[in-house]
Amino acid sequence: MSDQIKVAVSGACGKMGREVVKAVLGAEDMLLCGLCDVAPSPLPDTDLPVEASLSDMLEKTRPDVLVDFTTPKAVMDNIRTTFARKVRPVIGTTGITPENLEEIRELSRSEGIGALIAPNFAIGAVLMMKFAAEAAKHMPAVEIIELHHDKKLDAPSGTAIKTAEMISVVHTPHSALRTPHSESPARGGEFSGIRIHSVRLPGLVAHQEVIFGGLGQTLTIRHDSMDRQSFMPGVLLAIRHVVKDNGVIYGLEKIL
Ligand code: NAP
Repeated sequence: MSDQIKVAVSGACGKMGREVVKAVLGAEDMLLCGLCDVAPSPLPDTDLPVEASLSDMLEKTRPDVLVDFTTPKAVMDNIRTTFARKVRPVIGTTGITPENLEEIRELSRSEGIGALIAPNFAIGAVLMMKFAAEAAKHMPAVEIIELHHDKKLDAPSGTAIKTAEMISVVHTPHSALRTPHSESPARGGEFSGIRIHSVRLPGLVAHQEVIFGGLGQTLTIRHDSMDRQSFMPGVLLAIRHVVKDNGVIYGLEKIL
């Protein structure tokens, strides 16, 4: 099919990258054309070579979209390389700061192509964030507990930071922030005026609870990704969207 979207994957040998490879191979409107990983190893689902250099891989394969699931340390260099090759990035890697976002917006403007960054591609997690922002209008005392596998490189998670940002738009900081021992590390960290607690344990994948407290009541909104397949419908949606949009989108909720 000549109108297939040509997709390359960076971090292809990682846990998320491998799922993306499978999902793109299973999408009729997409063609998997290139793979990159700093520690290349053959992948069971494809005969495509895994290149160590992103720049060389993009030059050889000329994709429409690069999907990046690498590391917080590597992602900004990958984004710069991707824009320089006029390829649209879809970024799942977490650890993107507000300053990084500003640079991505500038790169998008100067190259005239779009990008999509989503701290969480699971539709259920996006709904959790939306519902939490709605609940915060009525129940301002709120804390976030995020729970992830013990190999996760960043803390707190990008999802927890994004949830705090979304809540902070509608939320008046509550006195719950200033409880006794509010300076103790056991009370978590403060982001956008909301406390976040990070749990890291083997056996977990990606989970989050947003807990609201009120007079004689609590409300808990919880999302669980039990399997990395949970992120793939959102990744495919993002790929289909980014080829049609020249702006920078931060958060899957913008295109649902
Ligand atoms: P992972 O299993 O460690 O995979 C990352 C892969 O990227 C590894 O194979 C790593 O190689 C490779 N890599 C490192 N630097 C690279 C570079 N410069 N160029 C190309 N490849 C490079 O991690 P993961 O569990 O797949 O997670 C990847 C990222 O996605 C993390 O930031 C995680 O938080 C995020 N994530 C996002 C979502 C979402 O919905 N947005 C969901 C889950 C995870 P080495 O092992 O040799 O370093």
